[in-house]
Amino acid sequence: MLSRREFIHLCMSTAVGMSLTEYLIPIMHNAIAQSKTNKAPVIWLELGSCTGNSVSLENAVNPTLEQLLSEILDVRYHWLLNVANGEDATKALEETLEKEAGKFWLVVEGSVMTADNGRYNEVFLRNGNMVTGLDAIMDIAAKAKYVISVGDCAAFGGPSAAHPNPAGAKGVWEVVNRQVINIPGCPAHPDWMTGTFSHLLFYGVPELDSYNRPLMFFGKTIHDLCQRRQQFEDGIFADFPGGEGCLFRVGCKGPVTHADCPLRQWNHYVNWPVKAGAPCIGCASPNFPDGMMPFYNHLPDIQTPFTALNVKKIGAAMVALGTGGVATHFAVGIYKKRIHKHYVDGTKPLEVSEPETLEQAKKELEELTKQKNALLAKTRKLEANHPVRHRKWWRRKLAEIFQGKDKNED
Ligand code: SF4
Ligand code: SF4
Repeated sequence: MLSRREFIHLCMSTAVGMSLTEYLIPIMHNAIAQSKTNKAPVIWLELGSCTGNSVSLENAVNPTLEQLLSEILDVRYHWLLNVANGEDATKALEETLEKEAGKFWLVVEGSVMTADNGRYNEVFLRNGNMVTGLDAIMDIAAKAKYVISVGDCAAFGGPSAAHPNPAGAKGVWEVVNRQVINIPGCPAHPDWMTGTFSHLLFYGVPELDSYNRPLMFFGKTIHDLCQRRQQFEDGIFADFPGGEGCLFRVGCKGPVTHADCPLRQWNHYVNWPVKAGAPCIGCASPNFPDGMMPFYNHLPDIQTPFTALNVKKIGAAMVALGTGGVATHFAVGIYKKRIHKHYVDGTKPLEVSEPETLEQAKKELEELTKQKNALLAKTRKLEANHPVRHRKWWRRKLAEIFQGKDKNED
């Protein structure tokens, strides 16, 4: 049996071509066989969604969904997998509610439709009446041991809550008055689901961020882990999807999206969007999709005291200054704070994200100050080394960039 520390390490170090579930299933199987833990009784509710997360889980190979269901989870009710239908299926759900109260897990896929008392989404039949997703969630969540939202719709509203959102779609945690563990993504990766389920079974609730996402999968940004990161630092940007270079200019939202896709990859650990030449559209973000659109436009300009810098200019400026690494980190820090203020074209933005916690805000501020000081120190050093020639050249270069004289400009 793994210690919690070893387990987290395993989750976070899963690399290309390695399946987390492949490791976990035998471990869990042995633990269950040795009576160290019991299979978890699960009610899996589908509310307003496309069933994408169930399909994602069904795409798990080696082990298959079948193994997961027979060896790890004891799924008592799942809209897609029920053998019975109609009120017979509802009976299994009701029995679980009664016999396993306080012990069963509620897994939710899809957003809660709240407009018109939830009538836009009816999920099962009880005593001849259709029950709305809203009523079902309010009733069942209160009796569950854990509530786990899978996919961006259940976690944060997702595409179902995109503007103008007539059905009043919301994430589960906005509706129920209790802790909800959010596993976002459109859909959620099978590993994110099986890894979180395993942690719950063995060690209880994993460490979560302020959006209640397990840190072992959502602790870093796509940008932090990206294979094209060096090209971003060097100011080498692709001009079209599929092109060589960092995809920031063609809309990549990796810098503002927390998930480990570059490390974990998709389709049985074969590839992921940026590796295939498509920008990340930020599907694991709490602001997806409205806050991430238009998908193929780059992130907003960075406002400086002199002018607005677009990404091409940032790249050129950083290369000109010879301070790519430090300055781009600084710039990314700035636009992370500004994205929802400036990025409104064609969509209604969600509310500005506040810093997640006071501690995090403090940490980010310290980091930004550190980076700003490093940038200033480097600039001073450059000036000291080449006082006259460098300053003139530096001023000319900046003037070209800020006044739009850059020959390579869009
Ligand atoms: S902007 Fe996108 S493509 Fe470029 S380094 Fe960051 S995550 Fe990778
Ligand atoms: S790379 Fe981006 S868009 Fe693709 S699954 Fe990961 S978070 Fe979602």
